[in-house]
Amino acid sequence: MQAGYDAYLVGGGVRDLLLGRVPKDFDVATNARPEQIKEVFRNCHLIGRRFLLAHVRFGHETIEVATFRAAHTEDTEGQGAMEGGRITLDNVYGTLDQDAWRRDFTVNALYYNIRDFSVVDFSGGLQDLEAKVLRIMGDPVNRYREDPVRMLRAVRLSSKLGFSIDPATEAPISKFGYLLRGIPPARLFEEVLKLFFGGAAVQTFAQLKRYGLFTELFPLTARALTSEIANSFLSMALSNTDARVAIGKPVTPAFLFATLLWEPVRKGMLKRLDLSPLEAIQTSADLVLQEQSKRVMIPRRYLLQIEEIWTTQARFLTARGKRAKQLSENSRFRAAYDFLLLRVASGEELKRLGEYWTRVEQGGLTGTSVDEEECETPPTPEAVLPGPIEVTTQKRTRRRSPKKPPLI
Ligand code: ATP
Ligand code: MG
Repeated sequence: MQAGYDAYLVGGGVRDLLLGRVPKDFDVATNARPEQIKEVFRNCHLIGRRFLLAHVRFGHETIEVATFRAAHTEDTEGQGAMEGGRITLDNVYGTLDQDAWRRDFTVNALYYNIRDFSVVDFSGGLQDLEAKVLRIMGDPVNRYREDPVRMLRAVRLSSKLGFSIDPATEAPISKFGYLLRGIPPARLFEEVLKLFFGGAAVQTFAQLKRYGLFTELFPLTARALTSEIANSFLSMALSNTDARVAIGKPVTPAFLFATLLWEPVRKGMLKRLDLSPLEAIQTSADLVLQEQSKRVMIPRRYLLQIEEIWTTQARFLTARGKRAKQLSENSRFRAAYDFLLLRVASGEELKRLGEYWTRVEQGGLTGTSVDEEECETPPTPEAVLPGPIEVTTQKRTRRRSPKKPPLI
């Protein structure tokens, strides 16, 4: 930096460049204190609770600039705090090599010196990069205790980069997954998005299950995933996500969470035979979302979208004719319809319902309306839901609106 401070590119950006991959973002580490960074860059603001960072804007890009940090035992400037071995405040400033030892993995602790284009490697990161090994800096158990999210990062980065996890780094993960229960659910939401939107969701999901971490993030789903259909639904959803990420198509948190939580919702719905499908889904959804939010906090705006994807599954059973057309013109139809197709593809007995809505969707696209013949031949109840529900729901719908065509 011209102002006389040292600045290095560090983290995933350097790692990815050295691997020949396109970096997602660049982080800068410097010996300048946050206030000093602010003095140098006008377009800069300071952010962060656990640790203070400077965000410096260059056009559309935001570069994260962090002051070198050190371990808390050091007699250094700033503030640090631990809670039962976990770092809760991380603003103890230090030197470059102290900063390196604070990072998670050796391949993430490579510093690219902007002044002379050299790479500074304190920990054998270049060698690990060559060997495609993810190795944690320092003592694995201590580092996981300090920040249990590092276990998720180990799974995510090894899956994404196709690296193996060094045995000593890997060994404690299965045992210490429970430490994730101490992480604020809002932080875990961000981590879940990174886990599943990084382009390797299928592999990441398999690894999370293998190390017992999926249970910590999605306990209800982990328990509910007992059938082949439910497992194939999720793996299809995740491979679709990977395919979309690979070609740069957008992916949405609401759809992801709707698929991840569908099996517990579906199972809960099947237990509520006294209610209509719509009410059963709503009741089950509320319970599942409430329980899930204790682990991974789902922001409100997504909650509404998730519920809509699920409740539309019930509407698909009943909406026919004009109401079907109206539903298909709703801006939220597409997500719920894609969801239905995934259910069909995974082997739920919904083939005729899927076909019906495909006809509606295509009619919608070409501008032709759903004709009478289709209204008269909606899928049979048998094709839609297992026996007991169909009887209850038919009774219920008839009671409410006797003039409507029979349900399903
Ligand atoms: P990605 O390519 O997905 O962005 P990344 O390694 O760059 O991967 P970031 O979350 O952007 O991940 O973090 C940037 C850098 O900050 C990391 O490379 C690592 O050096 C450091 N870091 C991030 N999270 C932690 C953590 N929990 N503990 C220690 N160091 C971390
Ligand atoms: Mg990064």
